[in-house]
Amino acid sequence: MLRGSLGAAALVGLQACASATKLAQTSAAPPPPLPGKSISLVPLRVSLDQLIDLKCCLRPLRAAGPNLGTEMVRDTLVVHNYGHGGSGWSLSWGSADVALGKALTVFPKEIAVIGCGIIGLTTAVLAQQYGLKVTIYSRDPIQRSRSFRASGSFTPSSRIALAEPAGPAFGDLWEQMARFSWKAFRTCLGLPGKPVEFTESYGLSDTPPQRRVWTPDPAITDSYATKGTPLQHTEFAHLDERIRDIVPQSVALAPEEIPFNVPYATRTSQMHFNFSSYAHMLQSEFFGRGGQYVMRDFATPAQFADLKEKVVIHCTGYAARDLINDQTVIPVRGQTGWLVPQPEANYGVRYKNVSVLSKADGVVVQNNSSTPELGDMLGVGNSMELVNRADTEAALKIIAPVFAPAARQA
Ligand SMILES: Cc1cc2nc3c(=O)[nH]c(=O)nc-3n(C[C@H](O)[C@H](O)[C@H](O)COP(=O)(O)OP(=O)(O)OC[C@H]3O[C@@H](n4cnc5c(N)ncnc54)[C@H](O)[C@@H]3O)c2cc1C
Repeated sequence: MLRGSLGAAALVGLQACASATKLAQTSAAPPPPLPGKSISLVPLRVSLDQLIDLKCCLRPLRAAGPNLGTEMVRDTLVVHNYGHGGSGWSLSWGSADVALGKALTVFPKEIAVIGCGIIGLTTAVLAQQYGLKVTIYSRDPIQRSRSFRASGSFTPSSRIALAEPAGPAFGDLWEQMARFSWKAFRTCLGLPGKPVEFTESYGLSDTPPQRRVWTPDPAITDSYATKGTPLQHTEFAHLDERIRDIVPQSVALAPEEIPFNVPYATRTSQMHFNFSSYAHMLQSEFFGRGGQYVMRDFATPAQFADLKEKVVIHCTGYAARDLINDQTVIPVRGQTGWLVPQPEANYGVRYKNVSVLSKADGVVVQNNSSTPELGDMLGVGNSMELVNRADTEAALKIIAPVFAPAARQA
């Protein structure tokens, strides 16, 4: 009865946060700037001496969108829940709800979840909230999964599908998942450890900001349909407009308001996830509700049917490419650099296709500056999971000038 409704999503989110025992004290927010006055921000320290980690990860892109189909493996119903591209964190609750809707059609009392990334762990917790007994079987806990190597913002349509192969119906499914997830995350705001929070994000430029309009490159005549991989940005599904009514939009800042060394800036509010506290919150709820975790590495999907649970939700992300031989999973490589956490400078900045975002678990740095013309194509088909330090060093050099002391206003 509850599944699928926004009311249920709100309940889900409340329950997801139930493990956190008390609400955080509301810290005194700085007053909003007066008209015509500058915004005052503590500058981020983006020098190399602050670098504490480099991570690399593969987004599991499927042209048709995540696999949420079902199949029987001997006497076991397997519901798939993998292939969320650059949107796995963002769509986790909504996607889990869709997968569980399929699992619940056979009225199981207990289920198995394979995989413990953000998709598996969220699916497990949601299943418990729907009254099921759950065992997670996974090679790694979430802290060692690819999910922990993401950047962690609400980006629900980032490399989630390709427009044509996914088809027009995918938009509705995506919107259902995105809205369900948004409601769930909303109820985690303000909890101790800030598993989910909003920060201000500034888009900076040296020239008047212009919204880039992408048009298909006529020189590229092939496409996913002919090559089995996307060849240009315009092949990707871009769906964010569908939830524009609930997601904060950006506003232009007046020159005297800009606390950075650039003449133009926009500001928006961005929801993001702090990995350590968010994972702790989910794990606490999972074990608090009696969930079992079994470390196990599956070699073939036939082994799913050896489990005692006869309903299995399969959430192995990019690994599904080999485990169940789904060659439609396309790797999209991404790298993040991490600086020492800087809670006193709690905001994000984008400049020349470099982004930095200050989170409780560190300041995450991403560099898309070398080939901005690629757009969503950056990293497509690249399964190299080793880090490239020079890439992050270059990003820090590009972004550093915007914090130059000369430009800071009192
Ligand atoms: C650089 C980068 C930045 C990103 N930023 C964002 C972002 O800001 N917002 C967002 O929403 N998404 C983001 N993503 C995408 C997001 O990280 C993925 O969509 C998400 O991690 C997929 O989660 P998953 O649980 O499906 O897979 P995984 O995290 O890969 O988890 C798979 C699980 O299955 C287990 N497993 C695998 N194989 C087996 C096996 N054979 N037997 C048993 N267990 C197995 C693993 O141990 C693991 O526990 C980003 C991705 C990258 C690369």
